Order: sequence, then C-alpha cells, then structure tokens
Amino acid sequence: RLAPVIDELGRRFADAGHELALVGGPVRDAMLGRAHHDLDFTTSARPSQTERLLAGWADAVWDVGREFGTIGCRRGEWQVEITTYRAEAYDPASRKPEVSYGDDLGGDLGRRDFTVNAMAVRLPGREIEDPYGGVVDLAHRVIRTPGTPEDSFSDDPLRMMRAARFAAQLGFEVDEAVVEAMTAMAERIDIISAERVRDELVKLVCAPWPRRGLTLLVRTGLAERVLPELPALALERDEHHRHKDVYEHTLTVLEQAIDLEHRLGGEPDFVSRFAALMHDVGKPRTRRFLDDGTVTFHHHDVVGAKITRKRMKALRFSNDQIDAVCTLVELHLRFHGYGSGEWTDSAVRRYVRDAGDQLERLHILTRADCTTRNRRKAERLRRTYDDLEERIERLAEQEELDSLRPDLDGNQIMTILGI
Ligand code: ATP
Ligand code: MG
Repeated sequence: RLAPVIDELGRRFADAGHELALVGGPVRDAMLGRAHHDLDFTTSARPSQTERLLAGWADAVWDVGREFGTIGCRRGEWQVEITTYRAEAYDPASRKPEVSYGDDLGGDLGRRDFTVNAMAVRLPGREIEDPYGGVVDLAHRVIRTPGTPEDSFSDDPLRMMRAARFAAQLGFEVDEAVVEAMTAMAERIDIISAERVRDELVKLVCAPWPRRGLTLLVRTGLAERVLPELPALALERDEHHRHKDVYEHTLTVLEQAIDLEHRLGGEPDFVSRFAALMHDVGKPRTRRFLDDGTVTFHHHDVVGAKITRKRMKALRFSNDQIDAVCTLVELHLRFHGYGSGEWTDSAVRRYVRDAGDQLERLHILTRADCTTRNRRKAERLRRTYDDLEERIERLAEQEELDSLRPDLDGNQIMTILGI
C-alpha cells in the first residue's frame, strides 16, 4: 500500500534534483512489522522548494514548523511530514535547538536520537542507509545512541525521556551506557520545557509497556525531576512491613487498569492510566502510625487529588485533563464505604453525580485498585463492585422510567377524560 506513495514522491523530488529519504519511525516500525501511520521524510530541498513540489501532488499542504524546516501534507490516507536535512548547532544553555540546514543524509542521521531511529530508505531507489547499526540493535531489541550518550544528552536532554519512552513503546532494553549517562545527567532535564517533557510522559504512559519506562525513570533519577510523587511511593514501607509497598502496588494497579481498558473501547486512555499512577500519591503525606502498630492514611484521597493537580499544572496539562484525573483520585476510595455499610439510593446517586463524565473510568480505577495478594479478598471486592454497578444501572433505568411516566396516574387521567 505504501509503495506507490513513496515511489511517486521520490521520483518527483529526484526529477527536481533533490534527495528524498523515508526516515526514522516509519523505517524502524516497518522493520519491526509494527504499524506506523505517519510518513516522515528527510530531504535536501529547502522548505519553500518542498512546498512547491508538494503543491501539485498532495491533497493538502501545510506548515508544520518552518523554523525547524518541516512541511506537512496529506495524500489520500497518508499523513506526510518532510523535513530539510539538519546539521544542528545547539546552545547548551538554551531550551530550544538552533537549526541550521545540512546538505547530506549522513549528517542528518548522525544527529538523531537513537540508532533504531537513525535509519533511512533513499528514494526512489530504496537503498537502505544504516550508518549506526540500527538493524542490529533492532534485532537485539536495544536502545543506543549513535554517538556517545553523554554528547547526545548534552545536545538535547529531552532524549533521556525519549529513551524511556521508546523502551515502553517497543519493549526494548536501554543500553547500560545509556542508562549510566541518564543517571549521571538526570538533572539536565530541568532545562527542557514542561510541554515537551509532558508529551514524552504521555506517550510513555500510553505505551504497551509503561512499567518498563517508569522503572527506568525511577532508576535513573529522572522521575525525581519530572514526577517526584512516583519515587516517593517507593519509600512507603513502615518498619513493621505491615503495609504493602505502595510503589509496587501502584504499578500493579496501572497494569490492571490497562487490562480493563477495553471497557472504554480498548484504546490507550491517558486519563485512566495517569489516575492509576497517581491514586495513592497522598499516602506519604498522610501516614500515621497507630498505637497498635498499624498504619492509616487519613484523607489521602483528598490530599492526593491536591498533589496531583499541582503536578499536572506544573506539567501544563489542560484543565479538562487535570479535572478528570483529580476527580478519579479523589473518589477512588468512596466505594469502600459501600461494602461495609448499606448505601442508600441517594448515596449511590451521589456517587454517580460526583463522578460525572468520569464514571466509567472510576469503575476501572476502583476495580484495578481492588488487587490484593489475598485472592479471596480480591474476589469479595470484585463481587461487591459488581453489585454496586448493577445498582447504578437499576437506578438509571428507574430514573428513565420516572422521566417517561406522566405526573398523573391512570385513574386521574380517566377522571379528566370522563372514561
Ligand atoms: P512517534 O511518532 O510514534 O512518536 P517517532 O519515532 O516517529 O515515534 P517522533 O518523536 O515523531 O518519533 O520523531 C521522529 C524522528 O525524529 C525520530 O525517529 C528521530 O529520528 C527524530 N527525533 C525526534 N526528536 C528527536 C530529538 N529530540 N533528538 C534527536 N532526534 C529526534
Ligand atoms: Mg513520528
């Protein structure tokens, strides 16, 4: 399906005297047999030349970021981005890379983040360029940098986040030298804008293997800079070891929530996953040791929602996303009152009303949180939640009936109509 599109485009650029190559994600994913929906190309043509060459060919052409040399277009089902060869000069103190154009594909590949992303297919001849051994690294399932990781991360510290993100997306190991550099250089992530860090974090959390990426962030100390609430949970073990390790529990809840995602249609759902990650962040601050040696966390749901809001604001999430996640964190414990006492209908209605749009996600989070090593207890919690959900449905049906039913009863209607 892809062949006609890349051949046409390659021919078009070649006829005009420019080089064009498919590059990065689509090449990597094609070699892995993984679907990739956008086509990224790199070219010797300058952005204005690219625009002219696309004009007669694409259904629509737009400017993705002219200052970075990227033009976008769509042709049929294909979304295409074409970027002029780069030879970047970075100012180590600045947040933004300074762009200067390069004249060859080799130079462009050398400034890419990882060897598996530094492969290209030249067009229209389809010769593969793999100067840094990306194919071998794909076969070994390892993330490595083309040059030394220290140089690469000095040029752009965001790449440290990207290493964890690709580990989570591809299920690969990160090369030990790369992990060491991430550990040594973690604090340099502070110069990167919150938005760019957030985008990588979202991709990591929505990936198939988020545990892998999160473990790397925690192990290298990057999490301490970008999501300190997460490593803080790992300390959460009381001297009697009566309470389960909250960090490990959190990762388990995340994985359970992912298993339940099919309830929302099966697509990775960031809000649901991030709520799972944050649901217990109020625990370190609310921990109290009782006289009998047990531990309680008084109002950790409310405190947790506050901490979550602060973190998500710092990471520049939208208000809608912040409200959604915080609703879930704040309500995730409410259900535990259902099992012990009897909830009245109005308590059930209040649960539904407070959850609002987040009800389906709240079902997921609460069920995911009911994991415990004690299988009998887990089974009991599951059945209790089944019961609550059934009651919510019955109440909803009842309300629908009530809303259909006229205010008058049958006898009154007959009286009025004289029948
Ligand atoms: P996806 O689109 O699924 O997120 P991708 O591999 O296409 O995955 P992008 O973030 O879209 O990743 O980046 C496209 C390509 O640009 C990468 O494959 C990589 O070669 C290069 N790249 C992106 N960001 C950087 C960076 N910060 N440093 C070096 N190279 C980068
Ligand atoms: Mg991409």
